[in-house]
Amino acid sequence: MENKKRVLTGDRPTGPLHLGHYVGSLKNRIKLQDEGYEMFNIIADFQVLTDRLDTSEVEQNIKGLVLDYLSLGMDPKKTNIFVQSKVPQISELFVYFTMLVSVARAGQNPTIKEEVKATGKGNMSLGMLSLGVSQAADILAFNADLVPVGEDQLPHIEQTRDIAKIFNSKFKEIFTLPKAMLSDTPRLLGLDANQKMSKSRGNAIFLTDSKDEVIKKIKKAKTDSEKHIAYDKKNRPALANLILMYSIFSGEDISSIEKKYQGKGYKEFKEDLAEVLNNFLDPIRQKRKELEKDSGFIAEVLQRGTKKAQEETEKTLKKVREALKYDYKDLGF
Ligand code: ATP
Ligand code: MG
Repeated sequence: MENKKRVLTGDRPTGPLHLGHYVGSLKNRIKLQDEGYEMFNIIADFQVLTDRLDTSEVEQNIKGLVLDYLSLGMDPKKTNIFVQSKVPQISELFVYFTMLVSVARAGQNPTIKEEVKATGKGNMSLGMLSLGVSQAADILAFNADLVPVGEDQLPHIEQTRDIAKIFNSKFKEIFTLPKAMLSDTPRLLGLDANQKMSKSRGNAIFLTDSKDEVIKKIKKAKTDSEKHIAYDKKNRPALANLILMYSIFSGEDISSIEKKYQGKGYKEFKEDLAEVLNNFLDPIRQKRKELEKDSGFIAEVLQRGTKKAQEETEKTLKKVREALKYDYKDLGF
């Protein structure tokens, strides 16, 4: 029991979960949970501020995330769901870690550059620059072994490993080097087909979208001027992404989808794709509706998960303070 592998991952409370989250990370999280890994799921509320100063919806989004998680099959008895800002140990670790990373190294992170372009309108806050360091603190505070994430997170995991190595060699061997766990679809494109599906990029199908919203979004999804339905990732990336979505959510392989739509056009393909997605989303919507009836449990789930997160990270922080000689025993702290 004691040597169960530990998993840490999570999301920013910037909006509802979408299909990209499901295929990129959530599917793996549920699988690992059901295989008996020790699970910590962070709701990274501090990180909301990295690219916006509007936090009016954070609390609502946190509640929404919990409902999304549970409707996808996350079990709060098996997965500790917690709120980042309520675990001060993580913030303390972040402070130490900022001293181990040069500004130049922080700026080399390609995901940060991409985020700044996509959502920060070219402006980079100091918080955004240190996003990889902040994620290192999230992960290493738990000494996690595995981090199931989408492809955009790889530079952060690499930075996390770097920081762990620096700390381990300069101070004390405390940290496990965590591994990223990618899914078969590490980067699902959005319906605009030129960037990843994202909450903040207006190109996502959300788990909370109604049947009609899904139909409308798929109708408008980008394709190209050719007519036939064929998978060609290089030359026809928009259609390839839609076929990929069809395949993932129907379980049919790509070549049989191509065959099925031989001689047929976008209209029929898109109508069927919307149906495939709605069939996947239906039981999730149903479960969410049930959960919404009595949402009093949300606070309880988060309180319990956050308490457990505080306890576990405190164990790490004790070692860290000792290694850094910041434990000040003579001073009575
Ligand atoms: P935001 O636009 O607010 O940053 P997001 O949609 O990028 O939101 P995050 O909360 O940043 O979502 O990401 C949570 C997790 O989901 C990360 O592990 C990320 O890699 C994964 N993920 C997000 N979008 C995708 C996607 N399109 N394909 C695969 N994985 C994804
Ligand atoms: Mg993101």
